Amino acid sequence: MITAMWSTWYATSELRGSPRVADAILSRNECGRAQSIVIAELSGFPFSVAATTGVEEKARRIAARTHAARSWMSEAFGFEPQIRVEVLGPEDFAQRAELPALGLPHINDEGTMFLAGYATSTFDSSIAETMRYLSAADRSTFVQAYGKPPNVQTFVDLLSVHELAHTYHMQRGWSFQELWMGELFCNLALHGYVATHEPAVLPALVTLPSAAHRMPPEMQGVTGIEAMGAENPLTYVWYQFRLQVAAIRLWDAGGSALLREFYDHQLLAAQQDGRADASRLPSAIDSVRVAWPHV
Ligand SMILES: [Zn+2]
Repeated sequence: MITAMWSTWYATSELRGSPRVADAILSRNECGRAQSIVIAELSGFPFSVAATTGVEEKARRIAARTHAARSWMSEAFGFEPQIRVEVLGPEDFAQRAELPALGLPHINDEGTMFLAGYATSTFDSSIAETMRYLSAADRSTFVQAYGKPPNVQTFVDLLSVHELAHTYHMQRGWSFQELWMGELFCNLALHGYVATHEPAVLPALVTLPSAAHRMPPEMQGVTGIEAMGAENPLTYVWYQFRLQVAAIRLWDAGGSALLREFYDHQLLAAQQDGRADASRLPSAIDSVRVAWPHV
């Protein structure tokens, strides 16, 4: 069974571009942006970084990660997106973020990334559900990765790299043809960055999705890969976690060459035909669709 919290994650983090969220963003801007919020600009980065008083240290850590991830991805994809990083306390996040609920990382069309500088409780209720399907050995791995009681903030903080990856198609004016393709692309970029630059936090990235992967597909109402979308919010996170697990295998088999091939094929289609093209997926990427939901 999927918890309500998981559907809320979907509603708050991944509905960019849908009319429902567009409406929500408009009303937030009218109400929230009118108020005066004071945050400090931090120097020392090749893009602008801002932080609420008290979370500057975390902001510097996340900005340094974002800098490293942007350098790595820009070299791989031949394009450098414009970004701004805002790491915010709860009140500033509620006022400034475009999707303020739950403090989940997100990025807007202009490349401004909104990140929570405080501990979020986003996954608390879903972890208990996930744990029900774990063997004793898996439960022990989970505790090793996140502590007891588990705190998955290290996982949540890594999602900013996923959001960064979206800028490489957003700022070039195209999107992947189907939602699962774009999300798999960003998850593969995230996994690749962590594997190559921060291997010590790899357990934090892979353990939660791998644990959720233990939940039987039969527990979901909808499981077809093409069905991932706004119309299925209850299962959205189930899809995301499974795509993150798929990224482990893809990276281990194809590494950065596969990530670049994935991107380059879609970029070329977007440049030639005005849109990305699902028929030009590398066979390894398409194998995820073929094998789904067994990744
Ligand atoms: Zn995404």
